[in-house]
Amino acid sequence: PQPVLAVVGRPNVGKSTLVNRIIGRREAVVQDVPGVTRDRVAYDALWSGRKFTVVDTGGWEPDATGMYASVAAQAELAMSTADAILFVVDATVGATATDEAAVRVLRKSKRPVLLVANKVDDERVMGDVAALWSLGLGEPIPVSGLHGRGSGDMLDKILDAL
Ligand code: GDP
Ligand code: MG
Repeated sequence: PQPVLAVVGRPNVGKSTLVNRIIGRREAVVQDVPGVTRDRVAYDALWSGRKFTVVDTGGWEPDATGMYASVAAQAELAMSTADAILFVVDATVGATATDEAAVRVLRKSKRPVLLVANKVDDERVMGDVAALWSLGLGEPIPVSGLHGRGSGDMLDKILDAL
């Protein structure tokens, strides 16, 4: 079986956009209606001759249990099913209390957790990226899911983690 990468993070940070970037196709639904569960969330990916499965966790976005609980549950589920986790933060917003709650869960994982700083569309956002070291997940990987900036470096790091 191929290794599995789960993409986790708050709604609207750009998880589905990054999944599309990773698979090189437009299959993950961007700007999905929160709370709507899709039946297909796992996609085949190929990079540098290696195959893996990428799971878009967008189907578990906020519900009646509230944002903290749903993001924490999403993180727990990802930890139990994935070989590595891509934790996505919106660099233009910075680390929120919900991001910190997710990190508390993710730090218990025995699997590698990569911190991705998304929406780094240009150099001006790099100062905000450095602030994300405070999450305690190591070096933030700056990317723009929308424009593709940094996605090759991110994919190399994904393969190292899987
Ligand atoms: P998700 O809810 O985490 O899956 O986020 P989506 O992938 O649906 O993206 C939410 C919104 O952020 C959409 O309007 C995207 O176009 C936008 N977005 C995603 N990635 C980027 C990025 O790198 N830069 C910018 N400027 N916008 C982005
Ligand atoms: Mg999504």
